[in-house]
Amino acid sequence: MKSILVTGGAGFIGSHLCKRLVEEGNRVICLDNYFTGSKNFVHGLLKYPGFQLVEHDVTIPYKATSTIDEIYNLACPASPIHYQHDPIKTIKTSILGAINMLDLAEEQRARILQASTSEVYGDPLVHPQPESYWGNVNTIGLRSCYDEGKRASETLFMDYHRERKLKTKIIRIFNTYGPNMAINDGRVVSNFIIQALNNENITVYGNGHQTRSFQYVDDLVEGMVRMMSTEDSFTGPVNLGNPDEFTMLELAQHIIRLTGSRSEIVFRPLPSDDPKQRKPDITLAKEKLHGWTPSVSLDEGLRKTISYFQNL
Ligand code: NAD
Ligand code: UDP
Repeated sequence: MKSILVTGGAGFIGSHLCKRLVEEGNRVICLDNYFTGSKNFVHGLLKYPGFQLVEHDVTIPYKATSTIDEIYNLACPASPIHYQHDPIKTIKTSILGAINMLDLAEEQRARILQASTSEVYGDPLVHPQPESYWGNVNTIGLRSCYDEGKRASETLFMDYHRERKLKTKIIRIFNTYGPNMAINDGRVVSNFIIQALNNENITVYGNGHQTRSFQYVDDLVEGMVRMMSTEDSFTGPVNLGNPDEFTMLELAQHIIRLTGSRSEIVFRPLPSDDPKQRKPDITLAKEKLHGWTPSVSLDEGLRKTISYFQNL
């Protein structure tokens, strides 16, 4: 049994990670400021004596009251509408949050994993994206608060590893979806499903030819847990994503078909700096994470997610 801190634990991915870790018998501290997360997503875990909810903002140093063995640092709004709501706060969350959690890891001699993102590749000119690609990121655009914050957090993780010998891990998460996405999350999968279930227009931004590769949340959580237990010398970064690539128009059509919806597709302006294509190269993850590979197809994952939103 380990003692594990999950920042952003009341969010979409964090809530699934907390569930997995606590069900395995670990002591889990879920730390969150509830900006985009909700106590409702982890309420069911309070029945476990090892589960603890702590309201805290990662931009402020956190004093542990007991030993911590591992830290998963997920705290940061991830949907463009939320991270652009207060961009200065977003970049502070990534950078100060990383520093505060790395200092805590140093004090506790804990392993620490950073939830980085495929956004570090920006609007990629290399396709699919391997970890060795340095990216094509606008430093001054509307997405920069998120992209550059995450890039700086990766730098901090590597410098703490080299300078202070911390056991750090970096994962680059590609578009992930599943139950516990907030109704107002604003990302494409939840938007399209909610619109389809309500027979409302499906809002495709731009011409819908931009691509993304969607990973079901259970596959991601499996990869995260495997990454945390890799040998100390392996820091990553490692891509975690499903390489099956779709256009947003194809995604809209899939969701209309699976929901039997009467919705029509409408086109809305493309947000600035919206990446045109994205698909992970997962060769490194397969090699280092004992053959890890996503096992949930888009159809299967969408069915589970649709059923979640239907039953809310
Ligand atoms: P989410 O918005 O559902 O979860 C983020 C959580 O962090 C929320 O519970 C929120 O309240 C909390 N939070 C935000 N700012 C905080 C702060 N200053 N202090 C404490 N808590 C704070 O998003 P998610 O999809 O679950 O993403 C989780 C992590 O994974 C994020 O770091 C995100 O950047 C990363 N990620 C997610 C995806 C994806 O497709 N879902 C892709 C790439 C990276
Ligand atoms: N998108 C869309 N309609 C929506 C929400 C998003 O067409 O209602 C598009 C968005 O422009 C982007 C893709 O879907 O091209 C993925 O957007 P999301 O915000 O989910 O993730 P990210 O852009 O961060 O990959």
